[in-house]
Amino acid sequence: MLQLDRVMLNYGSFRALDGISLNVRDGELVVMLGANGAGKSSMFLAISGLRKLSGGSIKLAGGEITGASPATIVSRGLVHCPEGRKLFAHMSVAKNLMLGGYVHRGDKAGLKERLEQIYDMFPILREKRDNNAGSLSGGQQQMVAIGRALMGRPKLLLLDEPSLGLAPLVVRQVLDTIKAINASGTTVLLAEQNAYAALQIADRGYVIESGRVVLEGSRQELLNNDTVRRAYIGG
Ligand code: ATP
Repeated sequence: MLQLDRVMLNYGSFRALDGISLNVRDGELVVMLGANGAGKSSMFLAISGLRKLSGGSIKLAGGEITGASPATIVSRGLVHCPEGRKLFAHMSVAKNLMLGGYVHRGDKAGLKERLEQIYDMFPILREKRDNNAGSLSGGQQQMVAIGRALMGRPKLLLLDEPSLGLAPLVVRQVLDTIKAINASGTTVLLAEQNAYAALQIADRGYVIESGRVVLEGSRQELLNNDTVRRAYIGG
């Protein structure tokens, strides 16, 4: 589904991604672990076309997307749910969700049906559909961010730190939702600081440090790995 081959990304003279190679297969839920500043967000920005690569290539479903515009990449089935949610705080929940379907704006009936599916998945959003997104709790705002991404009908969903700043119980709910989205057929690439919780729902994972993949393995391999336990799980 997704293949990165020696991807490089520079910010001026600083190299944030230093030759990242990885793949995500159709139907998988893959987690990216890494400390603050390891390069997870930069990698997602590069994949979704929001940052220009300094080298390497990216393929989506076998087709080249290196250098393609974000709009083209979304229309090819890859949707990026950014770190920090990036909602339009002064717009209603319903309008935020509809914006996620912009690329399918020609299909009004399809969008309406999709919106109802999102409301079925997150009933609280149906109740709050006319409220400003900024007035919702952190967990509810994360539901809007995920719902907005789903409105783009992704084949591959990139989720950058969806549990950031949420209470432990809400983290659990968000991760369960992500697992359910994956189980219903959407491939997921998830960046998470909450390594233990994320590994519970993942098939496989990669660890990145200073813009490089330093480890990869199945859920069980990573859960049993001493480095992962020490650095990301604690003990
Ligand atoms: P976090 O979870 O804190 O976002 P991350 O793993 O997602 O961490 P990135 O945000 O991708 O890491 O950052 C990777 C490195 O690139 C960091 O050293 C960061 O300071 C640097 N960086 C990120 N964005 C920029 C930018 N716009 N200009 C310069 N340096 C940047």
